[in-house]
Amino acid sequence: MYCPECRAEYREGIETCPDCEIRLVVELPAEDPDEDLVAVFETADVSLLPIVKSLLDSARIPCVVQGEEALSVLPVGRWGSGISQSGRGLAATFWVDKERVEEAEELLRPLAEGESPAEPEEA
Ligand SMILES: [Zn+2]
Repeated sequence: MYCPECRAEYREGIETCPDCEIRLVVELPAEDPDEDLVAVFETADVSLLPIVKSLLDSARIPCVVQGEEALSVLPVGRWGSGISQSGRGLAATFWVDKERVEEAEELLRPLAEGESPAEPEEA
């Protein structure tokens, strides 16, 4: 049992934190600073990276890309479209704030389905 306030651990049977006087929880919520980010798109196709970025950009959805560096050092011709996405080390993952997940997924759905996306409209 853990106190969600001071994060102290207590043994089973204790129900409230004597310091904070609040109920203990079975598991502490993750303290990962990335907990607000959700992966919305994963690809091993380097040619998709700028497209995904510009789509998110045009919708003003901030994103974090993971694995991009690993991809960019690979020869594009060999690792271009058609590569299996099962090679974990080759995939780039786009993370967005969980508040914007649905928006981003909607935006990226055509890409995820392998179709070309509609051109983002110029403002
Ligand atoms: Zn406490």
